[in-house]
Amino acid sequence: MSLFPEAVSVRFHPFFFTPAANLLAGFFLFLGAFSSLPAQTISLNNTFQQWGFSRDTTPLASTARWKNQWSHITVEKNKPWVLLNNTRVWLNTPVTENRGIFFLHQGDYAHTLQPIVAPTPSANAPVVRRILLDPGHGGNDVGTQNTRLGMQEKTFALDVARRVKFILEQQGYQVLLTRGSDTFVELEKRSLLSRQTQADLFISIHFNSAAPATGPNGIETFILTPPGHYSSNDAARKASAAERNAVEPGHRFGAWNALLGYYLQSSLVGKLDAEDRGLRRARFTVLRGLNCPGALVECGFLSNPSEATLIGKPAYREKIAQGIVDGVLKYSRVVQQLQQAATPNPPPRRS
Ligand SMILES: [Zn+2]
Repeated sequence: MSLFPEAVSVRFHPFFFTPAANLLAGFFLFLGAFSSLPAQTISLNNTFQQWGFSRDTTPLASTARWKNQWSHITVEKNKPWVLLNNTRVWLNTPVTENRGIFFLHQGDYAHTLQPIVAPTPSANAPVVRRILLDPGHGGNDVGTQNTRLGMQEKTFALDVARRVKFILEQQGYQVLLTRGSDTFVELEKRSLLSRQTQADLFISIHFNSAAPATGPNGIETFILTPPGHYSSNDAARKASAAERNAVEPGHRFGAWNALLGYYLQSSLVGKLDAEDRGLRRARFTVLRGLNCPGALVECGFLSNPSEATLIGKPAYREKIAQGIVDGVLKYSRVVQQLQQAATPNPPPRRS
C-alpha cells in the first residue's frame, strides 16, 4: 500500500498549502485555548472545499470521501478516525453527520487534521539535521518477549535502531542513539537527551505485545496526546481531568508531532504491507519531556507467531528500518518546504 510516489526522483507533494486554511486553523486553535467554551464542531464539507478538495462518491451514505490531485480523505459517521490516503489516524471524538454534512470536533481539527493535511508554513519549522533514535528498553528491562521463539524486544529494538542510523547517516543526517548497547536508560533521561544533544527529531523504537492474545498484528505509531484529549488506548476514558489537562514540554511541538507521526505510520505500513493499526495518541514518558518533535513506533507484535517469525529475519528488520527512514525523509522534506514557504524571497539586487 503506497501513499505517495516512492521514487525519490518524483517530486514529493504534501497535501497542499493555502493561506486560507492556515487562517482558519489559527482561529480554531484560538478557540481551543479556552476550554470553558462549549464543544465546537466544524463542517468537513466546508473545510475540504476551502482546501481545494472535491467531494467524491461513496457507496454508503454513512461515509464521505474527498480528493485532490495528490490525496484522498475518507471519514465514516460515528467512527473515531479519519483515513488520510488510507492511513488510519485516530481522533479524540467520533465524526458526526447531519443531512450529508460531516462534522469534526474542533480539537481534532486543530491538533490532527489541519497539521497533517494543511500544515502551516513557519520560518521556525524544525528542519531536520540531528536525529535522536531511542531503542526501547535495554539491560534488565527486556521489554516484551516471545519465549517460544526466544525473542526479547530490547534486542530487536536496538537492531532496528542501528539499521536506521546507518541508512540516515548515508543520507547526510547526524544520528545519535539513547543507548548503543544492551544497557538500561531511565525513560526521563531518554527525553532529556533530546535537549542535551539539541536533536531536531526523536524516534522511539519498540515492538508490541497483546499477550495472552496472539491475534493482533501490525503497526502502530504513537504521538503525545494533546491537552484535554483522551489517549487512544484509554477506551474506557478513565484519565482524570488533571491528567488530561497537564501541559508537557512535548506539547510545544504538537503540530510537528502529528506530521511526523503520520509519515512514519504511512511509510512503515506501506513498506511492510502490514496491518495499519493507526496513528495513535499516548502520554508516554519518553514523549512528554521532549525538546523536539517525536514519535514512538511499534514495529509489529512479538506475541503474534507469524509476525514474530518475520521480525526474527534480518531482511524484514531492514525493511522496518527503511520504512522508518522513508517516514523521516518525507517529514523532513515537508518541514523544509514549510520553512521555505514562510521565508520571504531576498529583495532584488539594485543595478
Ligand atoms: Zn516497548
